[in-house]
Amino acid sequence: MIKVEDALHAVLKSIKTLDSEAVKLTDALERVLAEDIYSDSNIPAFNNSAMDGYAVKSSDIKGASKNSPKVLEVIESLKAGDVPKKILKDNQAIRIMTGAPLPKGADSVVMVEETKKTRSKGRDIVEIYRSAKSGENVRKAGEDIKIGEQVLEKGILLKSAHIGILASLGLPKIKVARRPKVAILATGDEVIDVDQKLTPGKLRSSNTYTLYSQIINCGGIPKNLGISRDEPHRLESKLKEGLDCDLILTSGGVSVGDYDLVKFILAKMGTNIRFWQVAMRPGKPLVFGLIKGIPIFGLPGNPVSSMVSFEVFVKPSILKMLGQKIDYKNEVDAVLEENIVKKKGLMYFLRAQTRWEDGIYLTRTAGPQGSAILKSMALANSLIILPEEEEKVEKGVRVTVRFLD
Ligand code: AMP
Ligand code: MG
Repeated sequence: MIKVEDALHAVLKSIKTLDSEAVKLTDALERVLAEDIYSDSNIPAFNNSAMDGYAVKSSDIKGASKNSPKVLEVIESLKAGDVPKKILKDNQAIRIMTGAPLPKGADSVVMVEETKKTRSKGRDIVEIYRSAKSGENVRKAGEDIKIGEQVLEKGILLKSAHIGILASLGLPKIKVARRPKVAILATGDEVIDVDQKLTPGKLRSSNTYTLYSQIINCGGIPKNLGISRDEPHRLESKLKEGLDCDLILTSGGVSVGDYDLVKFILAKMGTNIRFWQVAMRPGKPLVFGLIKGIPIFGLPGNPVSSMVSFEVFVKPSILKMLGQKIDYKNEVDAVLEENIVKKKGLMYFLRAQTRWEDGIYLTRTAGPQGSAILKSMALANSLIILPEEEEKVEKGVRVTVRFLD
């Protein structure tokens, strides 16, 4: 039996990051960026107005107030997209809209609400009711992004704001990691598909569907190979259908039952088996190896074991294939709200409800922990992780909690 930490290490050592592909920005959401992005321009490209108002020299309007306004001559009007033609001289102002380039000579903008436009002796003039500091209401060239700056880092998961930045940099396409294709094969004579009528002794293959969604959730493309009976030839031919994938998952048949054949079939097909059985609960009967160079997990059949093994081993594998930076912020310390007795030597992953209250995380189990009890998994937002060496974990101590997505 291998420890979780060593098993994860062995798994990740066998997983390679996949190649990349170019996608349009509209297809980039939730994809993993596969290149560092540098800016070849300043954003904004030039000093521009943050307000609708008047571009002025701040030195002209010192001490301006409602009672003693400064009067300036209005010589031009600029909207976003215009190019200024005039240079501001003393006691002049230029009407300016948000986003319009700041004209030469001006160093600040007074918002329109602090002004009044009139005409005097056939000229446009404006009364200014407020002084301004130099630079006030001006967006500086490069204040968002500077030319040459590294803006986005390879390995991030692209969200809406990232895509907006890529658009403002003028990149119509970007390189993202190719999504790994992940095969799912359920095994077991007792297992049927969801659309079949349930007969005594049979069981619907919920694992197929939890795994299918877990794969999508971390960026993979699932390929459902269906269900194989516990029969060597069928298992072998079904497994072969997964050999065009980047990763293969089987569910069930890796325990010590008389019909648990997956391990033997894998061995017969020349799989390089790296380990079988991990010191954890749930999820002990896990097998991992490389079949014709393709990583394969024989996941345990019990629904929660299958899900937890995915969380602990398969998800990090898919993220490594994607070259995605792993965000450890989903693990926090939380205060345990109940006593827990565990078996020494196994790492425990308990389905839990964790919440933030009065400045700390509090956590408690989300119901019965049997590895076939999927309901407590559905009620859980997190897993309490208890290390191998613990035997009794008492109410009030701090434990590590990993949030589920
Ligand atoms: P096994 O390791 O194949 O003996 O599976 C252990 C138990 O997990 C079975 O007795 C079933 O209760 C359950 N199980 C196996 N395969 C599935 C599946 N595809 N979906 C849901 N439960 C399963
Ligand atoms: Mg079975």
